[in-house]
Amino acid sequence: MCMTCTCGSGFRLGQIEEGDDGQAFIRFACAGCDCKFGIEATSEEASPLFEHPVWTDEAQHCLERLPPYLEPLVRREVEDYVGGKHLTLITTGLITEARNQGTVAWHPDAEGRLSRVPGAVRAMARVELERTALDRGLPEVTVSLMEELKARYFGMAAKTS
Ligand SMILES: [Zn+2]
Repeated sequence: MCMTCTCGSGFRLGQIEEGDDGQAFIRFACAGCDCKFGIEATSEEASPLFEHPVWTDEAQHCLERLPPYLEPLVRREVEDYVGGKHLTLITTGLITEARNQGTVAWHPDAEGRLSRVPGAVRAMARVELERTALDRGLPEVTVSLMEELKARYFGMAAKTS
């Protein structure tokens, strides 16, 4: 991607943060005058901007937590999967999808419960629950799985309600 600032320098890609609504906030900064701007977009909306795969900060963090021997394999698996969908912006949701070769289903009761989790915790809880379901080969996230992980991910929510 190549965009030019009014000062004549090119814009560089900065941080890409994920919001809890699944949208990404993509930051750009000019290499010359340091002026900055950002756009909020879904992976589908933002992907035409990037020629090569880019990972959100959260997605990058997921990758970095993997054992070193696994990281390049998962990176390739995810990039191949999103490439097949003609996407280049890789979010945590797409990592989950790629590893499952599809999305993890949510039991309606579990989905309802997740919606009552505070926003700051919700995105992480969703990723962790889906990942756990995947790791165990479960077809969907259930209330009983949420109960099991509650102490770890919903402790804060339980205390404030
Ligand atoms: Zn500039």
